[in-house]
Amino acid sequence: MKQYQYDVSNFNKFKEETQELKKLAMENPGYKLVFQIFVFSFVEKEVKELCEYIEDEFPEAGYFGCSTNGNIYNGCMSSNNILVTCTIFEDSSSIYDIAQYSFNQENMGEVANRIKEDIENRPWIKSVELLITNRGLTVTDFCRTLQKIPQDICVFGGGAFEENRSMPTIVFSKGNGFCTSGVVFLWTGGENLHTYTEYFTGWKPLGVEMMITKADRAILYEINNEPAFDIYSRYLDIKNDENFFYNTLEFPILYRNNGIDVLRAPTEVNPDGSFRMSADVDSGVKARLSYGDPETILDNVRWGARRVNKFGPEVIKVYSCAARKTFWGEDEISRETKPFNSICPTSGFYTSGEYLRTNGFINRHNVTLVISATREGAAKKTNKFNENYPEAELSHKVSIINRFATFIEASTDELRKANEKLEKMAITDGMTELYNRMEIQRRINEAIEMYNSKENAVKNIDSVSLIMLDIDNFKNVNDEYGHHEGDLVIKGLSKLLIDVMEKSRGRISVGRWGGEEFMILLTDISLKDTLSIAEGLRKDFSEKKFKESGGHTMSLGVSIVKPGECGDCLTRRVDEALYIAKDQGKNKVVYKE
Ligand code: GH3
Ligand code: MG
Ligand code: MG
Repeated sequence: MKQYQYDVSNFNKFKEETQELKKLAMENPGYKLVFQIFVFSFVEKEVKELCEYIEDEFPEAGYFGCSTNGNIYNGCMSSNNILVTCTIFEDSSSIYDIAQYSFNQENMGEVANRIKEDIENRPWIKSVELLITNRGLTVTDFCRTLQKIPQDICVFGGGAFEENRSMPTIVFSKGNGFCTSGVVFLWTGGENLHTYTEYFTGWKPLGVEMMITKADRAILYEINNEPAFDIYSRYLDIKNDENFFYNTLEFPILYRNNGIDVLRAPTEVNPDGSFRMSADVDSGVKARLSYGDPETILDNVRWGARRVNKFGPEVIKVYSCAARKTFWGEDEISRETKPFNSICPTSGFYTSGEYLRTNGFINRHNVTLVISATREGAAKKTNKFNENYPEAELSHKVSIINRFATFIEASTDELRKANEKLEKMAITDGMTELYNRMEIQRRINEAIEMYNSKENAVKNIDSVSLIMLDIDNFKNVNDEYGHHEGDLVIKGLSKLLIDVMEKSRGRISVGRWGGEEFMILLTDISLKDTLSIAEGLRKDFSEKKFKESGGHTMSLGVSIVKPGECGDCLTRRVDEALYIAKDQGKNKVVYKE
């Protein structure tokens, strides 16, 4: 397998340069050639002329291509408009086919099913490369259908790009013409063909955690119950002007989903302040803004290149998000891709959406670098590969960005920790480490509300019960042994209570209700179990011996919620139960219905 690359600055020069390829093809009629055409600024007449030339000179060869945000030639960003690559399959068992499909948002599902069938009807297919016009489209269902093809088929590719947002993105292929809404595939296979894929991001979360409170498919309505635009405007000073797309591209939102980092960038602002996003966004997830961390990116690339080198490919293709180019700037962007070219010829383009199948799932990524590495036969060795490449030092501009980001991250982290501490303090009783009265009261009310609201079946609670307890004759302890000993007894009892809470896996909360009075909230625990927990506590506490004051007892009231009643009604009843226990001679558990 080989790849020739032509960075087309001049059509006549391209014709001259391809003569050697023509000769090679004529001398080796068994070789299969496939051209890929990457067009940065799409002028139909120019591309047509080029396609016609390929059809005339290489009648057996196939070709396919798309509009791009810039082309990657020999591992580096090219300054020319058009890049042509020719991949040559030398092994006679290698097979390829090109297919193109038109679709729109409505019939995409149907088309995806057709594609799936077409792939399944070609059992030789090992890898599926796709170029797709996906701007403004929801492709989640498309990917879901496509991922039903056999598990061992690799899928990778990129979204076509067009800088001028009033112009369409384009994919095209031999015999199928130019398509402004569709997908073109290169299917490859054969017993000696092997493909390896990887993806890298290097984008890291930045600043405070926020909740995606309202989103529907690719529309992000609200973050923290505020219009999404207000968040970007406040934190990033981003304006709704002609540069919006580029300004936000570098600061996508980031969240984890199914163990994968999901990055989504806004592409447009709607009049209501919602965003159209680069792809579908999940609602109800905790997300943060994110930024590219140059050191992480370079480190990821360094390790990735080592793994790709081990695979020993003959051709590498790169699908890298346009956001990455904006982030690094044209002078430095090639640092991410150049190392791969020291393994073997590396070509590709800057995309709008990067596709990769990982663990069976086909994901549409954003702000990501997807790599596919291919070879025919056994792993190839290269002696050009430098495993410490790219070098780590950063340009002045990038290193300043890096320091600012580090500063924000460190301060956010300190604030987050300080907040967590404050939040914990606000709900904790200082002496016993149990919840304070306000918090246990809040929890009781919340549990009762959930118990009473039957709509939310997931959160619904089937029972709420309370145990209220008070140490017997505690005044005597203070009077006879002093306040300090009294404190030790309260703390000793609290240890027993904390123990019960920790073993309950979230179903029991305990709060200090008053001096030596405590309230236990039990959710989804039967009355029988509640009573036995109460009895167990009574017994354990009565058996505890304190150094100076010896043993003590306590009384406990128990009650369980009735449908429709309020939190106060239940606490009043459990208080009455406790009162009865005291009245009946203390050191006992009393249940009141
Ligand atoms: P009963 O069996 O009826 O509960 O009798 P009691 O003596 O325990 O009576 P009561 O509950 O009214 O008295 C509680 C006492 O606990 C009063 C108060 O001085 C003391 N107390 C409250 N908080 C603390 C504390 O944090 N430390 C100490 N050492 N004593 C406390
Ligand atoms: Mg008492
Ligand atoms: Mg008391």
